[in-house]
Amino acid sequence: MDTTHDLRLQCWVASANGHDQFPIQNLPFGIFAPEGGRPRGGIAIGDSILDVGGLVANELLDGDAKAAAAAAAGETLNPFLALGGRYRRALRRAVSELLSAAAAPARLRELVHGAKDCTLCMPVEIGDYTDFYAGIHHALAVGKLFRPDAPLLPNYKYLPVAYHGRASSIRVSGMPVRRPHGQIKTPDSPAPVHEPTKRLDFELELGIWVGLGSDLGVPIAIAQAHEHVAGYSLLNDWSARDIQAWEYQPLGPFLAKNFLTSISPWVVTPEALEPFQIPQPPRQAGDPQPLPYLWDESDQAHGSLDLDLEVYLATETMRRNGMDPERISLSNSRHLYWTVAQMLTHHASGGCNLRAGDLFGSGTISAEDGYGSLLELSKGGTEPLQLANGERRTFLLDGDEIILKARAHRAGFASIGFGECRGTVVAG
Ligand code: MN
Repeated sequence: MDTTHDLRLQCWVASANGHDQFPIQNLPFGIFAPEGGRPRGGIAIGDSILDVGGLVANELLDGDAKAAAAAAAGETLNPFLALGGRYRRALRRAVSELLSAAAAPARLRELVHGAKDCTLCMPVEIGDYTDFYAGIHHALAVGKLFRPDAPLLPNYKYLPVAYHGRASSIRVSGMPVRRPHGQIKTPDSPAPVHEPTKRLDFELELGIWVGLGSDLGVPIAIAQAHEHVAGYSLLNDWSARDIQAWEYQPLGPFLAKNFLTSISPWVVTPEALEPFQIPQPPRQAGDPQPLPYLWDESDQAHGSLDLDLEVYLATETMRRNGMDPERISLSNSRHLYWTVAQMLTHHASGGCNLRAGDLFGSGTISAEDGYGSLLELSKGGTEPLQLANGERRTFLLDGDEIILKARAHRAGFASIGFGECRGTVVAG
C-alpha cells in the first residue's frame, strides 16, 4: 500500500470526500463524453469526472504518468491497458497528488466535469470474451437442480471451467435488454418452437480486464499472472434459460447468452483494490490439490478479493409507486473457487494468447444464502421469489430492471465502489 490509499487524503473536488463509490482512493478509469464533446478517457472522482487527456495537454504530468495519460486520452482505454502496471501506477500516484493538492491551478479545475452532464461509454474495445464458472456456490446450486447426487462435474476442482463467449454484444450499463427469441422445447412437446424466452435471467459476475497481453504459444507463469490484470468491472451475463436448456449440449451456451452482456462503465484498478485483497479461502478437506502450474503461495495468500456484491430489482409496478429497488441478493467475490490468476494462467496454459482489452467473466457469484441468478433464487422456476410489495418472480418480466453493485470496505481504509451495472427488460 502507498500514499494513494491513505484514509486522510482530502480532495478539492468536494463531493469526493466521503463519497461511497469514488473517493480519491479509488480513481477508476472509463470513457466519457461531456455534453457536445467527443468520447475520451476519464477518471471518476466523487460526482465528477476528470479529463485524463487534458492533463497531458495542460502539461500537468511528466514521465510514465504522462505516457499513461496520453494512452488513456482516446476513445477506448485499450492503449492504456496495454501499457501494464508500471504506467498505471505512475498515473494513479500523479492524479492522487494533483487531486489532493492544497492549491489546484485553474487549468486543472477546468478538466473536471459534472458526471450528470456526461455520457458514459464503453470503456474498452473488447477483443475476446471468456466466461468462467468459478462461483462455487452457484455451480453447486445449479448442479443440484440437474444432478442432485453429483452437482459438480469431475473437472470442476481441477481446472477453472469456462467457455468462449461473444464480444460483439457486450454493452455498457443502461442498454435495454431486448427479450430474445430462440428455439424452445418443453419436455412434453415433441419439437421446439421459435418464440421469445419465458425464462429470462441475470447473472451476477465480476468482469476482469486483461492489460498486458501474451504471445501465441507462450504460457503465463502463475507468479506473473497478476501483472496481466488491468482492472475489474461488474458484469451481467443475461441468460435465457429455456433456450439454453435445449441448445447447450454438447458444446455449451450459444444464443441463450449472446444476445447481450452488460458491464459497468468504470475499470477499477488492482491498485485501488489492494487494501481488499484477502487470502484465497482454503479448499475443503478432500478437495484435490491444484496441479503445480495453477499453484502459487503468494497468489493463495493475496489472490482473492473481499467485495460485497449486490443485486437489486425494480419492477415497473415498483417504479410506478415510487418504491426503491429491492435488494434480492447479497454475495461476495470471496466465493470464487479459483483466483483470477489461476483463471488467467489456465487460459494461457495451452498456448492461447491474451490481448489488451480481452474480458473475462468470473462466473455467477452466489453466496451460500445469496443467489446470483433467478434460476437459483426460484429453484429452477419452481418457487417464485416473493417481493416486499407482494409481486412474485420466477424469471424476469418486461419492465423489470436489474441493478448490480459492488462495494469494498475494510477498517482503516476508505470504502470504494464500482458504480452500477443496469439493464431494463423490454419486449422482444
Ligand atoms: Mn455466466
